[in-house]
Amino acid sequence: MTNYHMSPEEFRANGHALIDWIARYMENVEQYPVMSTVEPGTIREKLPGTAPEQPESFKALLDDLDNVVIPGVTHWQSPNWFAYFPANSSPPAVLGELAAAGLAVQGMLWSTSPAATEIESAVLDWLVDLMALPQSWKMSGRGGGVIQMSASDSTHTALVVARERHDEPVDQLVVYASTQAHSSIEKGARVAGYKHVRLVDVDGKLALNTTALAQAIKQDVASGLTPVFVVSALGTTGTGAVDPIDAIGELARRYGMWHHVDAAWAGNAMICAEHRFHQGTLKNVDSYTFNPHKWLFTNFDCNVFWVADRKPLLDALSILPPYLRNGASDSGQVVDYRDWHVPLGRRFRALKLWWVLRSYGAKGLRHHIREHIRMAKELTQRLEDDDRFRLVAATDFALVSFSHVDGDAATQGIADAINLSGGAMVTTSRINDQTFVRVSIGQTRTEQRHVDKLWKMICDFA
Ligand SMILES: *Cc1c(COP(=O)(O)O)cnc(C)c1O
Repeated sequence: MTNYHMSPEEFRANGHALIDWIARYMENVEQYPVMSTVEPGTIREKLPGTAPEQPESFKALLDDLDNVVIPGVTHWQSPNWFAYFPANSSPPAVLGELAAAGLAVQGMLWSTSPAATEIESAVLDWLVDLMALPQSWKMSGRGGGVIQMSASDSTHTALVVARERHDEPVDQLVVYASTQAHSSIEKGARVAGYKHVRLVDVDGKLALNTTALAQAIKQDVASGLTPVFVVSALGTTGTGAVDPIDAIGELARRYGMWHHVDAAWAGNAMICAEHRFHQGTLKNVDSYTFNPHKWLFTNFDCNVFWVADRKPLLDALSILPPYLRNGASDSGQVVDYRDWHVPLGRRFRALKLWWVLRSYGAKGLRHHIREHIRMAKELTQRLEDDDRFRLVAATDFALVSFSHVDGDAATQGIADAINLSGGAMVTTSRINDQTFVRVSIGQTRTEQRHVDKLWKMICDFA
């Protein structure tokens, strides 16, 4: 009987060739211009207008990685990457992705692959200890953790749970975050149907001002609205600012609001004890999210979402159609992760995180995060000592924010010149009507010499 499948024997040979290709990429990525400069449409033009009728060889596919794909790739895995936040990756994470793809299980229910669920729960319990989060967030407590695609998904999920706890119509419910909060909060609120999102003023350190928050809440209550959700940022995207989580938690408790901590990037630094004072006691926190795919050497997508109490989450999201019923679920003894987020189907994402944690060990992870932070603080010092530059925010973690004293054009000029040179990549943002350069240090293989090279470029283009 005819079949067109790649045989296991061919897969073995092609797979070896692909691993060789990826290893070569890892060896050479430092040499590529970081930012792709292709014109729109260039890559699409290299593709035929219709799908191939005849099967092609794997060699042809592999060749086009070099010919078609690479010219249109911006090299997030370059050690010269300082833009946005990193999209971390590492060899054990890549291999974990591959193993998960090979198994290709659907982990929607415990019974559809017990290993996928139990390894995920165990690894997220490990992280509770590694990050010194409340013990009750473990699966053995009232809470629990789940891997989602992105922090945006987790925040959206938390917003839905908070909405479902209230009987009032959604247009009477109010969500609070600071003006520096990530756009995913507004987006999640919009998708969840909220009509009122208050972006509260920040203080001199760009952290949420709790006096302004208390005032906004009082005003809303006086006009008959119900405060239901407040976000604390542990590391804002703009400058890495940290909101006063315990004080916000106190207000959340007083007004019966759901308190969500968005620790998307800086949460990773909580594996190092010296940074934990930033997150406080986490006493009045209902949910917490962070992205190993930003700073824990684990490929996108890998977001972690914890709830302090899983009951309201399951109340909000569980729907059991007859075709998903099974004895294990009915027994109440297992976790069915389909009830923990919007999608039904789910990949075995825990595998790559498990492999990263085991391959580096907590010791290795802490070492690299501390190195990134050390390099960021050192770069901050160099900027501070040079009167051409002004720091826009403190460097608590590994994000350096600065501007040129000559103003926006000079500041933007530095970033543009660095990016066009291909030697590194940075991004800019704006705060208080002022442009600033963001240097985010955290790519897996960034070393001191890469930061030294960046500093030289900053000076050359200043
Ligand atoms: C990056 C980031 C997000 C969004 O992350 P995704 O996983 O891409 O949705 C949310 N909040 C903060 C503070 C971030 O830095």
